[in-house]
Amino acid sequence: MNYFLSSRNIVSLLNILRRTYNVYVPIGKGNQRFYKKNPTSTDNIIIGEVRPFEPLKSFYSHAREVVAEGFRSDLVHADDKPSAIVGVKACDLKGFKIQDHVFQSHNFADPFYIKNREENLIISADCTSVLDTCFCLSVDVKPFPQENFDLNLSEISGGFLVEIGSPKGRELVEQNMTLFQAANDAFVKSVKKNRMHIIEEIENNIKNNHVPHQDDFKDMIEKKYESELWKREAETCVECASCNAICPTCHCFFLYDQKNEDEMKRLRMWDSCMVKDFARVAGGANPHKRLWMRLRNRFEKKFDYFPKVAGVYACTGCGRCISGCPAKIDIRKVLKELVTDE
Ligand code: SF4
Ligand code: SF4
Repeated sequence: MNYFLSSRNIVSLLNILRRTYNVYVPIGKGNQRFYKKNPTSTDNIIIGEVRPFEPLKSFYSHAREVVAEGFRSDLVHADDKPSAIVGVKACDLKGFKIQDHVFQSHNFADPFYIKNREENLIISADCTSVLDTCFCLSVDVKPFPQENFDLNLSEISGGFLVEIGSPKGRELVEQNMTLFQAANDAFVKSVKKNRMHIIEEIENNIKNNHVPHQDDFKDMIEKKYESELWKREAETCVECASCNAICPTCHCFFLYDQKNEDEMKRLRMWDSCMVKDFARVAGGANPHKRLWMRLRNRFEKKFDYFPKVAGVYACTGCGRCISGCPAKIDIRKVLKELVTDE
């Protein structure tokens, strides 16, 4: 059963959530959307529209965090409360397919990641507009959430159609029933119409930018492994690592120790396969010593390795690496060249 939540009642719901969670909601600043912790009524809250600037992964494995302290045997708690993340888009939720595979599906499961997966709350939302860098449909991601959320909000006139996606989401609705009302057929029809409209816009985007569908680049990395395209594309790269940091599926990290007064700490930081030292081993040997080799490796991981080991491409079509790259390296163009280049 779906519910209707009015624009006024969503503010009440966010206030209720603040008792248990740090609530992160996208706010508009210029052309970008950023998550803000516990926003106030003066903030320009935007739940629909497009994905925020920061990838969802930053709420699950932090860019820099303490993972061990002195001789403590319990988990180090970085946050006072779990996070409720609002306005999450489908392209970020697809990132869980890779993050879950890396951090919780092997012999060693990451306790920090698992704790965040269990305790955080996700209130996702349909995309109601499109960036010219969006190409989610090319990698079979729809512009509206279908899984991995607790509640999903689809914007309609006067509020949102609410879909329940988990027992945690159901409990939240049931405990705050006075804020919700039963949704009627007209609301459901309106959501369907909005979704069709956004799909059409993304399809046009994909067509205008000649982005191939994932079925077309299956096995292409192996076939084009020795292609000159890697050298051509890497020519302008400045090794800034932005493409990895901003990507909802990239997950590599390194560990280091730090001495603070009398205590040692072990910290974990996001790493980047685009930087020279990433694959360097003791003795100085480096299997990816040239930039073009590292660019090729990045694409190999996303479009060859993960489909083989996890059955899914490690790209969600969010377009962040396109807008975040100072060298204007465009993943859509590389994919197109993979398919068309002789
Ligand atoms: S590779 Fe680029 S477009 Fe694909 S998910 Fe990562 S940041 Fe988004
Ligand atoms: S964002 Fe662009 S310039 Fe920076 S490392 Fe990635 S490909 Fe290179």
